[in-house]
Amino acid sequence: MPLTNKAYYDKLPATKSPHGGLYTMTDENLPIIGPLQTEGVFAVAALSGFGTMASCAAGELCAQWIDGAELPAYAKHLSLQRYADPPFMTALTLSNDRGVL
Ligand SMILES: Cc1cc2nc3c(=O)[nH]c(=O)nc-3n(C[C@H](O)[C@H](O)[C@H](O)COP(=O)(O)OP(=O)(O)OC[C@H]3O[C@@H](n4cnc5c(N)ncnc54)[C@H](O)[C@@H]3O)c2cc1C
Repeated sequence: MPLTNKAYYDKLPATKSPHGGLYTMTDENLPIIGPLQTEGVFAVAALSGFGTMASCAAGELCAQWIDGAELPAYAKHLSLQRYADPPFMTALTLSNDRGVL
């Protein structure tokens, strides 16, 4: 049987109203996870439309930064440090797909 939404037409609860929000995101749509410019200050930010799904992994990665633990290879590119990597930033800028959900 094909999937369809038609069963819900004209049956939406009258007391409900649509809600939404704004995505907090960087231009390139990658989050900022790790140290900020002020020593001892860390952030998990700009989680865009994937923050609920990514929150546990993002928190773990930030804890690794705080702890001074060994970091995965992608950590730098998910932190503010990516802005000091022109080839990486150029590749992101040239990409047509920012992965916006
Ligand atoms: C419409 C919509 C649908 C989404 N759907 C999904 C989804 O299906 N799956 C998914 O993974 N993600 C989804 N997301 C993204 C996800 O909701 C966010 O990435 C996530 O909530 C970000 O979490 P956060 O804690 O970083 O920020 P937030 O949840 O925005 O929390 C920030 C908090 O800080 C408070 N705050 C702000 N400024 C101050 C201040 N000056 N002082 C004190 N408090 C302050 C705010 O009130 C807020 O409570 C969606 C987002 C939107 C908008």
